[in-house]
Amino acid sequence: MGEALSKARPRPVELTRDTIQEFMQRYDTVVSDLDGVVWTPVRMIPGSKEGLESLRAAGKRTLFATNNSVLSSYKKFERLGYKVERDEVVFPAIVIADHLQQIGFKKKAFVLGVEHFKSFLREKGITVVPERQCPEYLEENLASYLKAIQIDPEVGAIIVDLDININMLELSQAVNHLRNNKDCLFFVGASDTYVTFQDNKALLGPYHFIRLIEQCSDRKPIVVGKPGSMMIENYLKKIHNLDLKRSVFVGDTLMQDMGVAAACGMGKLLVLTGVSQLSDLDDCDPSLIPDYYIKSLAEFSNLLAPAGKS
Ligand SMILES: [Mg+2]
Repeated sequence: MGEALSKARPRPVELTRDTIQEFMQRYDTVVSDLDGVVWTPVRMIPGSKEGLESLRAAGKRTLFATNNSVLSSYKKFERLGYKVERDEVVFPAIVIADHLQQIGFKKKAFVLGVEHFKSFLREKGITVVPERQCPEYLEENLASYLKAIQIDPEVGAIIVDLDININMLELSQAVNHLRNNKDCLFFVGASDTYVTFQDNKALLGPYHFIRLIEQCSDRKPIVVGKPGSMMIENYLKKIHNLDLKRSVFVGDTLMQDMGVAAACGMGKLLVLTGVSQLSDLDDCDPSLIPDYYIKSLAEFSNLLAPAGKS
């Protein structure tokens, strides 16, 4: 029976010279992830720019949705020499800041995230706490720990993203604000287990910290980053009038990228230059199995070149 079930699992189609035309006819818009697809934290993925240019030259609109609010993707695109408009790239910080502005949020936001993330909230006039200059050293006894946990009634939202300087006291503060104020909003940007793998190192993401806050506060966050659908539904779809059935999401992770595509009813294309590999498809949730896979974005240059030129 196990064998019968595994045989029933759908398998993705590899994009080749034989299958590329079907793919191109199916979709008008390509929404792509960035880390692990276009670049890594320290280098460009070879041929990614040319692959994107080939898609554009073939008449496809290219948009980008990343869970990375740590750096400026616009600046990276500028250095790459690939022209994008600001509203063609979306990341959780901008969607959360827009949302809080739209609901007329006037309280303080308690943010476990990096300064670049916080800057988008401040641009909308939102007061962000804690103000962190350098790590606070707490005396190592429980009385000091207890005294240091301050609950500010003016805090109206807890926001958690990748926070490279995360610490025990601030995790406790986040939990205690949620436990003490049932009206306190709770948003999550990125929720990735791993940001990336590079040079034999796994860069941990915020996933397990988010689980900790959820479990200790007994609250469920609104997940704004992928696999949550807000970046697509509330931002790219609205601004660019997307027909999601005619759009394909290109990404390197099953959970986040194929997950958001499934949540939004988009096509799914997995690239093998990042976190997930074909072997991961054997035991993943069937809804995350991509429709197509391709070795890298660079392959589009070959597949879309006139016959004989590849
Ligand atoms: Mg990625």
